Amino acid sequence: MEELSKGFEANELRRGEAVTEVATNENGVKVRVGDGESTRGDYVVVAVPPSVWSDITFKPGFWVQKRLHSPYRFPQMGKNVKFLMGFNSPFWAGHKGPGFSTDGPINLVWESTENQAGSENEIALAAFSGGQDAEACEQWKASERQANYLHELGRAYQNANQAFVKGEFEDWPGAAWTKASYSFPRPGEVMKWGPFLEAGQGRLHFAGEHTCYAFVGYMEGALQSGLRIAEKLAKRDGILKNKTRYEQIRSLVVTGGKVFERRPTRQRITRRAAQRAFRRSW
Ligand SMILES: Cc1cc2nc3c(=O)[nH]c(=O)nc-3n(C[C@H](O)[C@H](O)[C@H](O)COP(=O)(O)OP(=O)(O)OC[C@H]3O[C@@H](n4cnc5c(N)ncnc54)[C@H](O)[C@@H]3O)c2cc1C
Repeated sequence: MEELSKGFEANELRRGEAVTEVATNENGVKVRVGDGESTRGDYVVVAVPPSVWSDITFKPGFWVQKRLHSPYRFPQMGKNVKFLMGFNSPFWAGHKGPGFSTDGPINLVWESTENQAGSENEIALAAFSGGQDAEACEQWKASERQANYLHELGRAYQNANQAFVKGEFEDWPGAAWTKASYSFPRPGEVMKWGPFLEAGQGRLHFAGEHTCYAFVGYMEGALQSGLRIAEKLAKRDGILKNKTRYEQIRSLVVTGGKVFERRPTRQRITRRAAQRAFRRSW
């Protein structure tokens, strides 16, 4: 964030303020923040997760939003939580490592400090849960949470309790700015929402990991979506003359493990040609 902000003038970037309204028409856009102040511009890129879209008034609304009914109104977001734990000794001595996977409320544990330089008595583990198990961890009372996590860890490692120093619960679904972890498209949702998220609506555009199905749920997806929108707007404004990288990728057809340039309809690769190419590639 600090690095990105260097590209802006001091007063261009506003942090810690919630956008409450986004109004677009054929002439431009108007974005209102919490204190009621508005900013005008040519385009707006909505990069907040769908789980918080309903905190913003969009004028006009989305066409998909109007057609779908709750809970299918917005692209599905997931529920994941983590408990980050600090230990002062490798309590798993005698075992290969502290990582484990269970069918209890903690789905996965791994060592985040693995292979990192630093003191041997500063060990960090991440305990990760998703879906209903994440909900179960969220519902634990704050005063009982640490004991519950250590109890679960203790099922595999008896000495974990003694080595524990401190823990911190990271609850993205419970955080006001995210209200979810990362996106998990439901069956049918990619076709329902995908074209809309890619095309946007007039001067309204979308970015964020939920708009990049190649890397949905990952940082890479968020970064690629930003690049896609930046190139799209730069091309529209004549700053970028050539095909964007995104257009170049879209003009390629991946068939049978090989990449072909997309051809005019009549010369499109037939199923049989694709099968031949696939056999040749082995
Ligand atoms: C538990 C967990 C584990 C993960 N593990 C990995 C991993 O191992 N590898 C990986 O690559 N990715 C991982 N991710 C996913 C990664 O964090 C996300 O894909 C990435 O952060 C998405 O970036 P984004 O910009 O789309 O959205 P976000 O990072 O959610 O950014 C959206 C921003 O919008 C802001 N915002 C919300 N509402 C408003 C408003 N009204 N006005 C103004 N701003 C607003 C929020 O404050 C936030 O800063 C993980 C995520 C979670 C929750």
